[in-house]
Amino acid sequence: MLMRIGGVDTEPGNDTWIPVINPATGEEIDRVPAGTKDDVERAVAAADTAFFLWKKKTQRERGMILFRTAGIVREQHKDLARLLTREQGKPLRESIDEIRGYANILEFYAGISGAQNGELVRLGANGDALVTREPLGICGAIIPWNMPVLIMGWKVGPALLAGNTLILKPASSTPLTTIRLAQILEDAGLPPGTLNVVTGPGETVGEAMAGHKAIKKLSFTGNCTTGRRIRELAAGSLKELTLELGGSDPMIVMPDADIDNAVDGAIRGRFYNAGQTCTAVKRLLVHESIAREFSHRLKLKTETLKLGNGLDTGTDMGPLNSAIQRERIEKLVDKVHETGEGTVLTGGIRPGGAEYSRGFFYRPTVVSDVVKTSGLLTGEVFGPVLPVVPVPDLDTAITEANGTPYGLGASIWTSNLHTAKRAFDEIHAGIIWVNRHLTVPPEIPFGGMNESGLGRENGLHALESYSRTKTMLLGW
Ligand code: NDP
Repeated sequence: MLMRIGGVDTEPGNDTWIPVINPATGEEIDRVPAGTKDDVERAVAAADTAFFLWKKKTQRERGMILFRTAGIVREQHKDLARLLTREQGKPLRESIDEIRGYANILEFYAGISGAQNGELVRLGANGDALVTREPLGICGAIIPWNMPVLIMGWKVGPALLAGNTLILKPASSTPLTTIRLAQILEDAGLPPGTLNVVTGPGETVGEAMAGHKAIKKLSFTGNCTTGRRIRELAAGSLKELTLELGGSDPMIVMPDADIDNAVDGAIRGRFYNAGQTCTAVKRLLVHESIAREFSHRLKLKTETLKLGNGLDTGTDMGPLNSAIQRERIEKLVDKVHETGEGTVLTGGIRPGGAEYSRGFFYRPTVVSDVVKTSGLLTGEVFGPVLPVVPVPDLDTAITEANGTPYGLGASIWTSNLHTAKRAFDEIHAGIIWVNRHLTVPPEIPFGGMNESGLGRENGLHALESYSRTKTMLLGW
């Protein structure tokens, strides 16, 4: 597939390409241009031209385009989901969830498009003030490979509705569905140049976007190190930043929880998308009175998960997205095997069998009694490994929950409202779920604290972040 700049399929200026690999088979399924700084300049020029007309449309007109897009996406969801599974690896039903989630986001923003009317502030003898909101101009979006479609929606929906034009850089391993979705927006009436997709390496295309003075806001989702680099590059142009970075979400299970529900929540929370979700359950803190039984049930349930090609019916968990991701996970678990810093209850190896030999598969893994200093607890583990840590009481659980530099999400599983309230008040995270984990509907603000990032996506908060106020003060 080619890049999409100014409404035109665009070849690489330097005839350099990036292969797109199916993680279930190791086969090259397509290739995309390895874009350059010049391609970013071309996209900026196209976005600048398009901005003049796009900002003049009413919010309702812009919302209608998002709404029509969502309709086409729903009609084509099966084909889009297959494409997503082929480039990303996740099971087809998770891809369908994600494609529908994208449509939900666009419909949410379309639905509120008539509600942003500005405000009139009465100042008595000082007159009246009319406070309006205007778009920022050209915005940038850099997205990762784990949830490429959903995260595209988080950025595209509010940015376009607010009247901005956009340059989007997909992750190099998952650019295909993004390009296809950009074409669908144009099919639904988005003027050429309003959304431009520039493919290419983060170090060239991403960095050129981060440092570009004409790009007024950049919304980035990815890891903390890249986020810091982007902040440095962005400082020179004073652009606004949303940084959605890594996390190490704790899930706390108290003895009064519905245990079956909590086991299911932990399985889904950790193994959905092969564990490659920013808000996955990355540390399971279980009250010691139930920890042994809980770990046992987790092990049994984990062993029922069917590992396979995401396109095959019945697959519960697909491969990791790349060989590098699998190596990272393997290294961490191999260390547990070597040092005994935990007990591997199930998994901890690649699966055997010809059907797994070419893809980047790793067995879903549960490790109990993990020591505090283990890499499974101190950093972000972006794969299907669930460490279980027994805790003696709620105080300790909350201290452990706050024991990393991150602060994206956390969950507490209990039937006691006071316990839930304490967790909500005392855990440092942008979202605290009670008796669930992972869900992020488009209506609610989403984003982290501490090293998990800056700013919020989703809801009205995101829409506001893509505009600024402009005030007329009328002295009568
Ligand atoms: P990276 O930061 O490596 O990559 C994310 C995106 O940034 C990709 O498009 C990548 O391009 C690009 N990129 C890489 N280097 C640079 C650079 N120097 N300048 C600008 N752009 C660059 O993230 P990971 O691949 O590690 O993605 C997973 C991470 O994303 C995890 O830490 C996860 O927690 C986090 N995440 C956070 C979410 C949140 O909402 N808080 C949601 C989902 C994921 P390329 O592919 O070409 O390298």
